[in-house]
Amino acid sequence: MALYITDECINCDVCEPECPNDAIYPGAEIYEIEAALCTECIGHYETPQCVEICPVECILVDPQHPESHAQLLDKYHALSAPQPASAPTTTTVISSV
Ligand code: SF4
Ligand code: SF4
Repeated sequence: MALYITDECINCDVCEPECPNDAIYPGAEIYEIEAALCTECIGHYETPQCVEICPVECILVDPQHPESHAQLLDKYHALSAPQPASAPTTTTVISSV
């Protein structure tokens, strides 16, 4: 499952840089987790890094996003795959003699 941050968050900022998937961002009032990007750190670490570092233990498993270990691993592989370039990548090489 993805994780979510409860309203006990004190906006201490320490979890955001720890996330290997850039899933954590400052929301309107507290930090939030983009469920589509959270793999519970599977593929990167043994344990969820945000949970490890949060000083007030306000990061919990989100029952609204049930995912098995295999699904989280698939998500990790999808997120790790090379992303298509957003701009044309054709390079014209002009050779001079
Ligand atoms: S569990 Fe891992 S991937 Fe998910 S939000 Fe926390 S640090 Fe990011
Ligand atoms: S580490 Fe915990 S308290 Fe700090 S910003 Fe993240 S969720 Fe909030």
